[in-house]
Amino acid sequence: MQSTEFKDRFNKMLLNLEAAYNIIKCYHLNEDKQIMLSDGDKPQKCRFCEKEFPDVTFKKISHAISHMVGNRVLKSDYECDTCNQIFSTYETEYSSYMNLYHTMFMVHGKGGIPKYKLSHKENSKIEIENDNTIKINIQEGEEPLIVWEEINKANNTIEIKGKRTYTPQNVLKALVKMALTIMPKNELQHLSNTKNWLMGHSCKGYILPVCLRFYRSPLPFTSVMILKKKII
Ligand SMILES: [Zn+2]
Repeated sequence: MQSTEFKDRFNKMLLNLEAAYNIIKCYHLNEDKQIMLSDGDKPQKCRFCEKEFPDVTFKKISHAISHMVGNRVLKSDYECDTCNQIFSTYETEYSSYMNLYHTMFMVHGKGGIPKYKLSHKENSKIEIENDNTIKINIQEGEEPLIVWEEINKANNTIEIKGKRTYTPQNVLKALVKMALTIMPKNELQHLSNTKNWLMGHSCKGYILPVCLRFYRSPLPFTSVMILKKKII
């Protein structure tokens, strides 16, 4: 896709969103300046389990948005070490879910653009070269990573195989945790059910819908936003 065409489509999507939603929080993660989100609680209080120091500790650096999507700068001081540990397992599942997308859309994680593999043990992989070309490496004797049969050749397509190593609900929890972390404090009062569900308590009622949209061009940097539906 041409970059101008992509930009037009992206801007159109933003305009459509703005017609129905207000942007109540927005961070563009394209600068080196560190941002520490704080609720200003003294003693320090965890936004998620609501426990305070010293009942819980805050030694670990809590990324507000996963570093898997290129966040080096946006952190918070209101996620305790216990919750951080729980959320890191959700992030691992989110990473498994997004693996192919993160490779193909060149999302720079902690160790650069991740390679796509069926499992850690396999050598067959899809990776992005320095000149942004896609390299597919197939090791003989391993489970096929791609399917390229006559019908694919005729249609000019390739099928990439995958294995589900994640629990969908935990992938959603990783995303919801990121949203709750950058949520303005005054909005949290409306989200106690969501927070209970995130923390593993049973929760009746509304299930959050998820909408994913993929663009076939890599974005230059990560932006995150909280949108609130306009009352019309
Ligand atoms: Zn906590």
